[in-house]
Amino acid sequence: MLEIKNYIGGVFQAALDGETLEDYNPATAECIATIPRSKVNDVQMAVDAAHSAQSEWGALSMLERADWLDRIADALEKKHEHIAQTESMDTGKPISLARRVDASRSVSNFRFFAGFSREQSEMTFEMADAMNYVHRSPVGTVGLITPWNLPLYLLSWKVAPALLMGNTIVAKPSEITPLTANILAETLHELDLPSGVFNLVHGLGPEVGQSILEAPGIKGISFTGGTATGRIVARTAAPMFKKLSLELGGKNATIVLKDADLSLAVDGAVRAAFTNSGQVCLCGSRILVDSAIAEEFTKRFIEKVNSISIGNPSLDETVMGSVISPEHLEKVESYIELGLAEGGTVLTGGTRAMTGFTGPDGVGAFLRPTVVSGLSYTSRCATEEIFGPMVTLHTFDSEEEAIVMANHSEYGLAGSVWTKDLERGRNFATKIDTGIVWVNTWLHRDLRTPFGGVKNSGVGREGGKWSMEFFSEMTNICVKNPDSPE
Ligand code: NAD
Repeated sequence: MLEIKNYIGGVFQAALDGETLEDYNPATAECIATIPRSKVNDVQMAVDAAHSAQSEWGALSMLERADWLDRIADALEKKHEHIAQTESMDTGKPISLARRVDASRSVSNFRFFAGFSREQSEMTFEMADAMNYVHRSPVGTVGLITPWNLPLYLLSWKVAPALLMGNTIVAKPSEITPLTANILAETLHELDLPSGVFNLVHGLGPEVGQSILEAPGIKGISFTGGTATGRIVARTAAPMFKKLSLELGGKNATIVLKDADLSLAVDGAVRAAFTNSGQVCLCGSRILVDSAIAEEFTKRFIEKVNSISIGNPSLDETVMGSVISPEHLEKVESYIELGLAEGGTVLTGGTRAMTGFTGPDGVGAFLRPTVVSGLSYTSRCATEEIFGPMVTLHTFDSEEEAIVMANHSEYGLAGSVWTKDLERGRNFATKIDTGIVWVNTWLHRDLRTPFGGVKNSGVGREGGKWSMEFFSEMTNICVKNPDSPE
């Protein structure tokens, strides 16, 4: 069993009061690690360490820091398989997904920001009698708080631009999936990143997370997690005028228009619904289909869902692993019951998966991919974020109706539209109140593009220049031409 430590000021150390928490593999119900249950004193120690490192790190040029990012990417790439195995064990996700998505993106996040920064030119604005130069400085010490569904992928998505722009970091990974953040800390330590530039404090959200939000020495908070927690983050940090980036929940629609290429749409809808057991904020958990093609679409969709191989996450052929925890399994099950109570019909799934796979400590948190139809698009199952392997299927009779249904949500993170007419798809996309719309694809990411949500899905954008802006302060320096009259 692993004994994970905090990483503060370049030193791996236990929580100051020695308390620990247990970390489980949800596919085997096995306790795989202990982590420090840190408190406000540990966070303060990390903030102090970050402050001590700030001036030296902030004084490097962006190009020097970009070289650091490349070094980090190279070092993580050498650990690709180790990261994938660890992420799979900590989250219950299949190893193939952990390799293809989690481990690969964690490397490419660093490599992307290094390369992207080298393409940037200085921002200047010329006047007839003066020149404006936009100078970027670090924000200072920033707090990075991340969820359990894509642990290192999302942490590295924040760490890379934060380091690039010269900030020092106090990071807190989810207490449910702390292991790959520790691999990142080990990697930075092996690379001799100056002490205090990156600090990692493990523990519970209301203890460590809250202490990060409240620490006066932390000048910016980049948070990814649930909307309810996002409210606490905003409530705590906004009155302190901290810079805030909030990437929150979603209830995304997959919209299949009458003229869609059906096999493409079916494949896409299944991927959008059940990747990572439906535990991706971008997952399409509401499927809206034109009634003219609904029967054929549904038949093919269910066939495809039934072919998903679910079971032991460490086997190459497994497509779906467990959900994140027994508690989360029960939450998703409660929504299946609610769906039935709301008048829905379970077309497939609805029960715990009989995977034949049992870990040493019992049965893991496996649920069959579940499709419910017959519910109103205003029902609780169709409007609340379930964040698991359960989707609802709805039909519409006109595009206008589809738009009303898609927009009937307190969330607005992402969505996809399926049509052979690309112009129609683009036009349709502009009418959905959301941060990202894919036409004939899903989770196709160019890291230069803005990423983020509207409504209760968040505030601000990450990606490319948006991340660089969030993690820096800009000073406009206006230099008057001495030869021009005042
Ligand atoms: P969560 O909000 O419960 O936890 C996220 C992080 O916040 C964890 O590290 C947690 O410990 C911490 N936290 C909890 N209480 C806190 C507090 N009072 N102060 C500070 N930090 C606190 O979310 P989760 O269950 O880990 O993740 C699932 C959620 O994340 C879903 O809603 C999903 O949609 C969302 N998510 C959003 C995106 C996005 O980019 N928009 C990406 C991934 C996940």
